[in-house]
Formats: sequence, C-alpha cells, structure tokens
Amino acid sequence: MLELSTPVQYVKGVGPRIGEILAAKGILTVGDLLYYLPFRYEDRLNPRGISELRAGEMATVIGEVRNSGLFRTRRMPIFQLTVGQGRSRLKCLWFNATYLQDKFKPGQMIAVYGKVEEDQHSRELQIVQPQFEVLGDPADSEGNGGAEKKAAESLEIGRIVPIYESAGQGRLTPRWFRRAIRTALDNLTPDLPEAIPAIVRSRLALVSPREALWSVHWPEPGESFQDLQSSRTPAHIRLIFDELFFVELGLELKRRQQKAKTGIAFKLDQRVRAAIKKILPFHPTPAQKRVLKEIAADMEQPHPMRRLLQGDVGSGKTIVAFEAAIIAIENGYQVALMAPTEILAQQHYFSARRILEEAGYRIVLLTGSLEADRKREVRRHIAQGNAQLVIGTHALLEEKVEFSNPGLVIVDEQHRFGVMQRLKLMRKSGDGSENAHVGTAASGRSAERAVNGKSSAASPQVTSAEPDVLVMTATPIPRTLALTLYGDLDVSVLDELPPGRTPIVTRCISDDRSPEVWDFVRKQVTAGHQVYVVYPVIAENEENELKAAVKMYRELSSKIFADLKVGLLHGRLDADLKDQVMRMFQKGELQILVATTVIEVGVDVPNATVMVIEHAERFGLAQLHQLRGRIGRGAAKSFCILMTGGKVTEEGQRRLDAMVKTNDGFKIAELDLELRGPGEFFGTRQAGMPSFRVANLIRDGQLLEAAKREAAAVIAGPNSEISGEEISRALVQMRTRWQHTYGLVEVG
Ligand code: ADP
Ligand code: MG
Repeated sequence: MLELSTPVQYVKGVGPRIGEILAAKGILTVGDLLYYLPFRYEDRLNPRGISELRAGEMATVIGEVRNSGLFRTRRMPIFQLTVGQGRSRLKCLWFNATYLQDKFKPGQMIAVYGKVEEDQHSRELQIVQPQFEVLGDPADSEGNGGAEKKAAESLEIGRIVPIYESAGQGRLTPRWFRRAIRTALDNLTPDLPEAIPAIVRSRLALVSPREALWSVHWPEPGESFQDLQSSRTPAHIRLIFDELFFVELGLELKRRQQKAKTGIAFKLDQRVRAAIKKILPFHPTPAQKRVLKEIAADMEQPHPMRRLLQGDVGSGKTIVAFEAAIIAIENGYQVALMAPTEILAQQHYFSARRILEEAGYRIVLLTGSLEADRKREVRRHIAQGNAQLVIGTHALLEEKVEFSNPGLVIVDEQHRFGVMQRLKLMRKSGDGSENAHVGTAASGRSAERAVNGKSSAASPQVTSAEPDVLVMTATPIPRTLALTLYGDLDVSVLDELPPGRTPIVTRCISDDRSPEVWDFVRKQVTAGHQVYVVYPVIAENEENELKAAVKMYRELSSKIFADLKVGLLHGRLDADLKDQVMRMFQKGELQILVATTVIEVGVDVPNATVMVIEHAERFGLAQLHQLRGRIGRGAAKSFCILMTGGKVTEEGQRRLDAMVKTNDGFKIAELDLELRGPGEFFGTRQAGMPSFRVANLIRDGQLLEAAKREAAAVIAGPNSEISGEEISRALVQMRTRWQHTYGLVEVG
C-alpha cells in the first residue's frame, strides 16, 4: 500500500529517470503526484460520430489518423490532419504548427476536441486548432482487439478525462500522468489521515480526502462539467480548503502566541494625550484618528502589538507613526523607526526633527553610510537610552544595535515583504530568538540590569517584555491577499486622504512628443512648482540604464533646461551627495529632479506637482502608482505624464491605461494582482508568501475567508464542538506542513 509520504519511485512505472523529471516538477512523494491536478478536463463521455457533427458545437471525436502534412501558405505554415471513422472524415488544422510535422502516423488512434466549423470554400466540416491526444499507435494493437478497441477500454475514452500539463519536455504526457496517477490511487492506503475537525468538515460539507483525490482525477460521469473546469467540485473544494486551512491555522496560532506573550502596557493618560496634541502640525483626518485609537488600544494592552497600518500613498501614515512613538517615549521607552531606503530614513529623520525635536524629543539617525566614528557615537546614545527615537534603514535589524529600553518598533513601507520574510524579520526583532537584535539585545540587557539591581527608580519598569511592532505599508492589498500575507497581524486601514488634495491628472504620451512635455514642464516651473523626471533603472540592466539616465540628466540640465536648476539622484551616488540633492529639492533649491526609482517610496515634497516618467511601459503597476504618489501632495493641481518609448506590449498598455483611468490604489492593486498573479505581486515571487499547490488566491477568496474563520474557531477550542484531541491532530498536521512546505519550523 502506498502512503501519501511514500517516495514517488514506489509507484509502478516510475523509475529513477522518470523520478528525476518528476522531482524537477516538485513531485517527490505519492502525495505530490496526487496533488498534481488536471488543469482542465475533456468530456469524452460521448465521443461523436463524424457524420453527426454540426457546425458550431464543441465535440470530441475519436478516430484514426488517415493522413497529415504541413503546407505553406503565403502568411504561415499550416498543419493539416485528417481523422477518419470508417468512411467519414474530418479535417483538422493547426496554424504555425511546424512542430506537429512528424508527430502522427497513419493508423494511430487519436482524440481531437474543439469547435466544429464549416470551411468557407468547401463547406466541409473541420476543427481549427483542436486539442488533441494520441491514444495508441498501430503497433500497440497486437492482433485481435486492434487499436480502436484497446483505446476504448483505456482511461482515455467514454468518460470525463483529466488533462495534465506534460513534463520533461513532453516526455511525460498527459496520458502518462493519467496512468501513473491511476496506479497510485489504486494502490493508495484506504485510511488517509483526516486532520480537519469534524465540525469544520460538516460546516463546509467537505468530502473525505480519499474521495476528493479520486474524484478530482476521475470525476463521476454526473459531475458538472462547469464546476470541474472552474475547480468548484466538492473534490476541488476539499483539496483547496485543506491547503488554505492549514496555512491559516499556522498564522492564527502565531497571532495567538504573540498575544499571549508579555508585552508592555503603555499608559495613555492626560499627559500623554497632551504631548501628542502638542506636536500635531494639522488636524488629523477622521481616518487618522480612528487608526491611532486602534493602535493606542493595542499599546495599552499588556501584550505585544502586532499591527499593520495600511494606507494608500499620501494618506498620512507618518504622523500616525509619530503619534504612536510619542506614546512609547512618554512612557519612558525607546522607539525604532525603520525605512527601506536611506533616502526615506533621512526624510523621516528631517520630518521627525521638524515635528518632534521642538517638543524636546531626542532623535538619532543610524544608517549604513554614517562614518564609523559617528556610528559608534550614535550606537552609544542608543545603548545608554539617550536617544528616544532611532530612525534607520531595515539594516537596523541586521546590525547588532543594542537598545537600552525598546518599546516600539515601526517598520515603514513594508510592501515588498511577504509573510514568510516578515515572520523571519519579526523573529529577529524580538520574538524570542537567541540572535541579538533590536528586541532581544535589550531584553538580555534588561534582565541583567534587573539582576544587578541597578535599574534606577526613574527608568520605567524593566522586564523582558516584548516591544510592540507597527508595520506600515502603502500597498493597498486586496483582501484575500492580506489574509494570507498578514494573517498573523491585526490590520488598520487609512482609507481617506488628507483634505485639500486635487486628484492627479495622468496622461500617457509617446516620447516623440517630448518637446511638448518639456514645454509643459517649463510652464509649471515658471509657475513656481517643482518637477520629477523619473528614469527606469532595472536591476538586470543597471549599468546601461544608469548611463542612459545620466545622459538624460546631462541633456536636460545643459540643453533643454539650461537656465533652470536641475538635480540628479540615483542609488549609486554616495550618501552625502544623495542627502544633499534631496535636501536641496526639498527646500526648493532645485526645480527639476531627474531620478531613478530611488524616489519610489515615501519621499514627500508637496510643492512638486509634475512627474514625468520616461519609459513608463517598463515599470510595474504598483511601482507606477508608488511613483505617482510622490505628487498630488499639496493643494495645487498635479500632473503625471507617462512617456512611452518604443514598443508597448499588450499588458504594458493595460497597465498604462489603468494608471490613466484611476488614482485608486485598491483598484490598481486588484488589477496588478490579476495581471501578475500573487507570486509576483510583491516582487518577491515565491519567497514572500506561501506557495500553494491547488489553491489560487485570485479565484479562491471565499474559501480563504472560510479557512481563516474556521482556523480561528479551532484555535479557540476545545469546546462542545471541537475536542482537544481534534485540535492537537490539526496542529500536528499544520506543523508538518509548515515545516515541509515553507521550512518554517518555529511556527507553532
Ligand atoms: P504616506 O502615508 O504616503 O506616508 P505621508 O505621511 O508622507 O503619507 O503624508 C503625506 C502628506 O500629507 C505629508 O505632506 C503630510 O504632512 C500631509 N498630511 C498628513 N496628514 C495630514 C492632515 N491630516 N492634514 C493635512 N496634511 C496632512
Ligand atoms: Mg510614507
């Protein structure tokens, strides 16, 4: 008997060579093979007689290859094949299909499936571009039965047939998979473990794992064809739910464990409230008030906060972060604020100084590019507790920075990180790993202080409490994705822009009209505004593109805008220069800033009202939206000009159209997700998120919600509905899966 965990080599017909091909597809065990689902099904229940076909219908025809060949027309090569049944014949055509040339032999049995059409000239019936499958060679027939009979008895005909993606450059055909999977099912142990608690199964009417595996590959004749194609049969639902459930269970458990840990119960009294009020440079929007309330409520709890603040570009997350920082600082704790780039860290540092320093808070900036001496000094300030707000890049986590008394960690613009990366990141920031980093270094220190009894009366209660964590992202994440990516976090949403913004006008223009664009830029500058000109530099072509960007800058600064003040900003400049350029632009000393995507995140210069993006077709949708978010930050009307150079792909055009049509980050995110798929949505492919075998986050949103709900219900047990034994069985299964699939042993 085969178990799901049995190596796939034990399936009859799979030897070491085939084993290698399968391994390349990630199929190592019997379970992996059985989770290799058909990507579509073909209804061969009733293969049709050629003589009874009618134009316009979809039909499967099984017959014998009579002849085939390639002929060339002026426009393209066409492959033609005639299928015969007795005296009837049916013509099949494939365009541009030279690859089919030597594929068929007369006498072979084949199945073709497609739409029956009438040939315009001859009036004969034909199928253009049918799906096809070779069912048997004439040599297969070995006497009595003949190919026809043998094929009819096989797994290929007279049923709904599963179609698999082939593997190993076509060596493992759909037909091969059918047989291998069938053999595996035939020999599969009858008692597959059931780890989903009974009440959950009954609420979702889930079929057993065994039934699901059988019918997903070999549907009963009565099964709805449409449900099959859309992966909505009970069998599909069972397998998809199964996969989502154990991911959500892990995230839910993680969340619970966080909540159960000892955190810091910050006090939010009149004094702290007054301190917050004092720094506010404007009236917060109702949305800002609401999310601050949510954050403050978490911070008052004696458990560590793990909260995500999600808000579109320009929605005003920074001030909320500062407010949270004040709560921690006024309680005697230190705050770390981390940004993904140095420029952004610097900018936060400037605004923090502008907004917070006046009120007497002590702020330091710690980035990789600081001189060694200065760095040492800053570290000392941090370790001695002088620095109250520490601003830096994410490198703060990597380097061993010792805090004297950390209370709150804020991670800004976290949109490039998926759940897996973040779980690792958070582990470092103090989820009890032995690595010395932001949180743990300090807790170690605190413990030491407690032991030595040196903690002064003035300093706050010293415990090994975990700091709170606030993660901020500008990517409005479609809900289904948020559930998986941030399933372990509580979420607050800033769904309102500060008042006085006028919507950005976006236009898409080919770069042969650039003179008009530069005229427009000049007018805006004359009117007192500032302009970004963004040039793409994508990692693969960094060298060349950087040159192009620099050339562009020369052209603009010495010719087109020779009389204006133009600056250049890109990632390779050294930090001081970057800093200087950014500061000049911020102060209005530069009118035009030519930049690469280093300005993508967070940069805030309200007087900049125009953004020209060169080669806009090369940027991803999320990135375009982020870039555009740099303008439209003041009261003046803002313009985003997407210039295209050269060929634009169809998908590229859809991105540009979307940008022209909407400013709504959520709509853009949804479309982006649709265009790129969840894997690339975060620019991290698989690394950032769980990779699913059967679930599809775009298609399975509802099942995901159900999985999350049920996972929470299970963890909340045991109770009259769920026994402790069921819960532990589910948890054991969850751990095995997390370990195997995601390599995250520490969850649970
Ligand atoms: P993001 O959410 O993209 O980080 P920022 O925090 O940089 O946005 O805020 C964008 C701009 O809006 C900043 O110039 C900020 O000062 C301004 N701003 C934020 N909140 C308000 C408010 N309530 N009223 C007026 N301006 C605000
Ligand atoms: Mg920001």
